[in-house]
Amino acid sequence: MSMDETLYCPAAPRWLPWAALLLAAAVVALVWWQLGTGWGLAALLLVPGLFVLPVFLPNSGFYAPVLSRWAGAGQRIWLTIDDGPSADTPALLALLGRHQARATFFLVGERAAARPELVRAIVAAGHSIGNHSHSHPQAWWWALGPAALSSQIGQCQQQLAAITGSAPRWYRSVVGHTNPFVAAVLRRHGLRRVGWSARGYDGVAAEVPTVLARITPQLAPGAIVLLHEGGRPGQAEAVLDGVLQAAAQRGLRADIPG
Ligand SMILES: [Zn+2]
Repeated sequence: MSMDETLYCPAAPRWLPWAALLLAAAVVALVWWQLGTGWGLAALLLVPGLFVLPVFLPNSGFYAPVLSRWAGAGQRIWLTIDDGPSADTPALLALLGRHQARATFFLVGERAAARPELVRAIVAAGHSIGNHSHSHPQAWWWALGPAALSSQIGQCQQQLAAITGSAPRWYRSVVGHTNPFVAAVLRRHGLRRVGWSARGYDGVAAEVPTVLARITPQLAPGAIVLLHEGGRPGQAEAVLDGVLQAAAQRGLRADIPG
């Protein structure tokens, strides 16, 4: 089975957002015409809100195709670790090595530039790397225009290629947000957007047992697990250890596609 078959990701057609926008305009006009100005104004305010919603849904393919499960994974799960490289990276690599597990690290370009040796260590250990923007502007990622997105994603791509010798093919949105301008940039770089099916909200100040209690029930064949590094000291390692143990108990192996 080829990579593309195993990772088939049903994409919404490119014209869908625009067709939906036209339809929405028609709905507003119809409401205005049939029900009068009061309802018409209400529709004018509410209907555009429907277009904002998919921006904040990490697994919505409305604005750009997304993988939210690893199809054809068998008894495997896909661990994805965001926000590195960081002081946690060496411990995470050692832990993955002890479990003979592989993961994808979604790296931030600036942080990779500051610690290129960690990026090379990730690849040398058999893991893959992905693009997680150049500077991780989390408050504004959803609102960035085409030029800013192109620069954020392009610079990260360039940085990681310069360090490792090959450009990543996976992309993870900053805080999972996706606007109408992302898809074109991803196509240009041959990047595929990866969402997730299991998360423990480990980015927020949460205790390790709480994070594990959230993730464990979601560990199933083909699950894509969202993890973070670079938080409180020791937290990322403890969470990863718990996830690897829970996966093993369920007969699941952490591996990467391709
Ligand atoms: Zn992030």
